[in-house]
Amino acid sequence: MPVRGLGDYDSDNIFAKILRNEIPSRRVYEDDFAIAFHDINPQAPIHILVIPRTPHISLADFATTAPPETVAGFFRAVAIVARQLNLEDPGYRILANMGHHAHQEVPHFHVHIFGGRPLGHMLPPLPG
Ligand code: AMP
Repeated sequence: MPVRGLGDYDSDNIFAKILRNEIPSRRVYEDDFAIAFHDINPQAPIHILVIPRTPHISLADFATTAPPETVAGFFRAVAIVARQLNLEDPGYRILANMGHHAHQEVPHFHVHIFGGRPLGHMLPPLPG
């Protein structure tokens, strides 16, 4: 039984439209497995989204149902993008939101790349 993540894939989600060039994006990279573009609401001086070309909702869906070479190609693309943006030194962060508790907004699997300033330690402190 495949893990679908959040239900059926919505081919009208905003990243599906970006993949089909139906709405614009500021692309920084593309290959057979992934495209990467600037986040429209950046949370760091460099904030890039990397998305697979395949219709997968979330990490849970992508990593368990996409062919292994597709998964490998995607994560290799994430690292290539970061390298091409000269982020390996001094460093960067990747993040993938999955589902409700993580506030995933767009139901097409994506990895955020943050960089360009010190990013602090992991998550914000718990209140109290
Ligand atoms: P998430 O909460 O992980 O689903 O993140 C979705 C991200 O997509 C947010 O950081 C948004 O700012 C970003 N976003 C939404 N629409 C667009 C768009 N048209 N172009 C680029 N980034 C977008």
